[in-house]
Amino acid sequence: MVVEKLILGRLQTNCYIISDGEVALVVDPADEAPRIMEVLQRHKLQAVGLVATHAHFDHLLAVEEVKNKTGAPFYLHHLDEPVLEEMQVRAVELLGIQAGPPPKVDVYLEEGDRLSIGEEGFSVLHTPGHSPGGISLYDGRSNLFSGDTLFAGSIGRPDLPGGSYETLIRSIQNKLLPLPEEVAVYPGHGPTTTIGQEKRHNPFLQF
Ligand SMILES: [Zn+2]
Ligand SMILES: [Zn+2]
Repeated sequence: MVVEKLILGRLQTNCYIISDGEVALVVDPADEAPRIMEVLQRHKLQAVGLVATHAHFDHLLAVEEVKNKTGAPFYLHHLDEPVLEEMQVRAVELLGIQAGPPPKVDVYLEEGDRLSIGEEGFSVLHTPGHSPGGISLYDGRSNLFSGDTLFAGSIGRPDLPGGSYETLIRSIQNKLLPLPEEVAVYPGHGPTTTIGQEKRHNPFLQF
C-alpha cells in the first residue's frame, strides 16, 4: 500500500505516498514538491488528499504547490490550526528559512474520521502531545502512520509550543500500544518499525 517513502527537506522528514493503484494519499507533503509530483506521475496516480500528521512546517512545506498542481484537498486536525498559523515564525526561528504563508485547510480532521483511498481507508487517531492536533493514521490491519508521535526507539519532542510529555505518553499508551504487535509503524522521521518492537525496546515506553 505504501508506494514510496521520500525523505524531504532540511529536517529529513518522511513523506509517504499511499495508494490502491489508482488514487493516492500523500501523508506529510514535507518539502520538495517536484519530487512528490514525480512519484505521482511515474505511477500514474491521482492525488485525492494531502494529510499533515501535524502542523509543524517541516511536514507541510510542499502542500501549497502539490495542492495547486493536483487539486487535492489539504487535511489537518483542527487543534493544530494555531500551530499552522505560526509556521513562518517557527521556520525562521529554527532554520532561518522563509516559508510561504500557511496553506488553507480544506478539511479539518478529528478522532474517528475516515480517509478513503479507493476501497481501502484509514481511521484518524488523535495522538496529541508533540502538538495539540497531532494525529496517527491506522488502516485497521497492518499499517500505522505515526507522524512525530512515535519513532523507532524514540518519541516526539514534547517541549515545543502546545506540547506535553504526559499527554504524549498517554497518547502512545492508550492509542498506539494496544494495536497488534505486527503492525508496521511509519514515523515522521527515521526508519520504519513495528508496535511490538517499540513496546519491547523503546526506552521511553518501558513502564
Ligand atoms: Zn513535529
Ligand atoms: Zn517532524
